[in-house]
Amino acid sequence: MEHLENSNLLLSSVINLIDDLIFYKDENFKYLGCNSAFLTFINKSPAELIGKDDFEIFDHELACLFRHNDELMLAEGNIRTNEEWVTYPDGSKVYLLTKKIPFVYNHVSTGILGISRDITSLEKAKQQLKAQTLIDELTNIKNRKAYNLKITALLAVFERYQTPFSIISIDIDDFKKINDNHGHDIGDKVLQGFSALIEAHIRQTDHLFRVGGEEFIILSESKNKIDTIKLAEKLRITVANKTLMSDINITISLGICEVIKGDCANSIAKRVDTLLYQAKSSGKNRVIHNSVA
Ligand code: GH3
Ligand code: MG
Ligand code: MG
Repeated sequence: MEHLENSNLLLSSVINLIDDLIFYKDENFKYLGCNSAFLTFINKSPAELIGKDDFEIFDHELACLFRHNDELMLAEGNIRTNEEWVTYPDGSKVYLLTKKIPFVYNHVSTGILGISRDITSLEKAKQQLKAQTLIDELTNIKNRKAYNLKITALLAVFERYQTPFSIISIDIDDFKKINDNHGHDIGDKVLQGFSALIEAHIRQTDHLFRVGGEEFIILSESKNKIDTIKLAEKLRITVANKTLMSDINITISLGICEVIKGDCANSIAKRVDTLLYQAKSSGKNRVIHNSVA
């Protein structure tokens, strides 16, 4: 008997030393107990927790989520793992990895034993890494992969809600000459200066991407096509009037078109490329759009 008491004492000391949140609930989802880390997490005393369910402790949305996971786990009768953002009572947000398993108590009833680990820093590092793969290293603006993701998302929204968007394809005129006359390193700096210049002149609803060497795309969520044409013309003039690297002047050619019913990423790209080609072949340093809606 004394041996059992010692073991229980040792076990509860160990459980209270663990940083992970440990909790256990009965078959009616009422808390039977938890460790110290869990009490800190909910900012409550054991007396305020035991016998209560999640709806009495967390906000409704979070309690629904916890209950849903508890029910799934009990229905499956097996270990269940899930990850979610959770807000502490003090307002700070953490990303928790939670494992729940059924546990038998009083010899007959099946409750829920849960262990949650705070993996916020890991999740943030993962998000950062993911964001980095979408950024072009030279210019620090979004890359072609980011463009593919964005246009896919915009097309899905267009298909569902008919929310229009426009695409502006930009190609720097005679860029090869910049490299030939000033060297590749200066060419790189011109691309950086150009990207920063465009970023500074577009709104939050316009998304700039570097999709090739000296080829850029703006996906514009502007509701009005005339606004997009005005934006393109403004950018053309801004670039033509700006001196980069103290003595380099460049111009750009632009093609614009609007999404139409039945479009896919390829069909829009093809249409806008044709317009850009027309801008190049008709003398460069100009904006060509298919029609004014
Ligand atoms: P156009 O007016 O017809 O567009 O002529 P262009 O010279 O701009 O077009 P072209 O496609 O013939 O040449 C593009 C040049 O851009 C060639 C290539 O060396 C250069 N380029 C592509 N990527 C980079 C880069 O990352 N850095 C530098 N410095 N140059 C690049
Ligand atoms: Mg080009
Ligand atoms: Mg070019």
